[in-house]
Order: sequence, then structure tokens, then C-alpha cells
Amino acid sequence: MKTVVIATNNKNKVKEFKSILNNPNIEFKTLKEIGFTEDIIEDGKTFKENALIKAKTVSKKLNCIAISDDSGLECRGLNWEPGIYSARYAGTHDDEDNNQLLLKNLKNVSDRYARYVCAICVYYPNDEYLLEQDYCEGKIIDDRRGTNGFGYDPYFYVEEFGQTLAEVPLEKKNTISHRQKALRKIKDKINEDFSIIR
Ligand code: IMP
Repeated sequence: MKTVVIATNNKNKVKEFKSILNNPNIEFKTLKEIGFTEDIIEDGKTFKENALIKAKTVSKKLNCIAISDDSGLECRGLNWEPGIYSARYAGTHDDEDNNQLLLKNLKNVSDRYARYVCAICVYYPNDEYLLEQDYCEGKIIDDRRGTNGFGYDPYFYVEEFGQTLAEVPLEKKNTISHRQKALRKIKDKINEDFSIIR
């Protein structure tokens, strides 16, 4: 069994990682489980830069393989805000506060196109790394729908489902999610590496 540290304490992300990578030979540990309590300063200007900072920091400190994601929401009508500030958009790190601020800012905006972005980084102790990014497209609606998912999901409407991402089960979200698409780009490489690395 090989251990990979997931550079997050976000339970929802961990659930999605495990479900998408679905590799019985990998034991995923969160930062909490491994006892890593330091704050990681995410001062990158892009999702990719922040994903790299997180995975590299953890890999270097623990001498392990680390996987991270940096994700967020981009709204075209808001000049692609909140972007890399999605988690702390309203300043409180609270999903509902973020959602309320988003709706307030979109009040008189007719272009509701939005996309989730996810950058994934896998960082190895020998300083090699994989870094990929992908998107999930939708639009922001005004009324809250559904109780699954997290973050902006209750307001993120996906045309092909006719539902928000909070109305569909995780397995269905995973078929189109930004995290799934980015992870899929590196999944084969990770699994190949894991059959070699001891
Ligand atoms: P991070 O933890 O710094 O990557 O911040 C990600 C933030 O973007 C989350 O706190 C959510 O607000 C938002 N976000 C990213 N992915 C999703 C998703 O799949 N559903 C809902 N919100 C998401």
C-alpha cells in the first residue's frame, strides 16, 4: 500500500479524489490525518501556481508524494470573479456568505455563464511533478436548489442535467466535474507511477 498525502482538509474534496482515482493500492491521507498543521501560504496568481505551491510544500516537508487541487468559480459577467479568491470571496470562508455575495454582485448582470476551474498537482520527492487544469461549465441561478455538494453547487446549474450540482449525486457530478476532468488527465500517469514506486 502506498501513501499519498492529499494537501487539503476539505472532506468533500477528499471524497471526490478517492472516488475518482479509485485505486485500492493507494492509501490517501489528509493533512490532518498525517499531523500536518502548518498554514500553507497560497500566494500564487493562478490556480495552477497555487496547486503547485500546496503540493510542493507538503511533499518537501513530509518527504512524500503529495497531491493538491486548487479550484474555484469564474463568472464571465463579473470579469471572471471570484476566481482564485472563491473560498474567501466574502471574507469569512463561509459557503453561504460567499453565495449571498455572489448573488448580490450578479443582481443586474444578465450574462450568467460560469465555470468551475480545477488545477491538480502531484508532486514527487524527487521534484518531478504533474500539473493539469480543466473546467466544468454552467450558469448561476438565483434560487438555491439541492443539498448535495458544497460551495457554490446549489446555485450552479448545468444545462445537460437540467439540475444544479447540489441536486445530483456525487457519482453524477463526477462525470462532468472540473476536478474529475483534471484528475483524469493525470490518472493514468499516477497509476503507472504507483505501480513502479515502492
Ligand atoms: P480552494 O480550497 O482554495 O481550492 O477553494 C475552492 C473554493 O472554490 C471552494 O471553497 C468553493 O467555494 C469553490 N469550489 C471549488 N470547487 C467546487 C465545487 O466542486 N463545488 C462548489 N464549489 C467549489
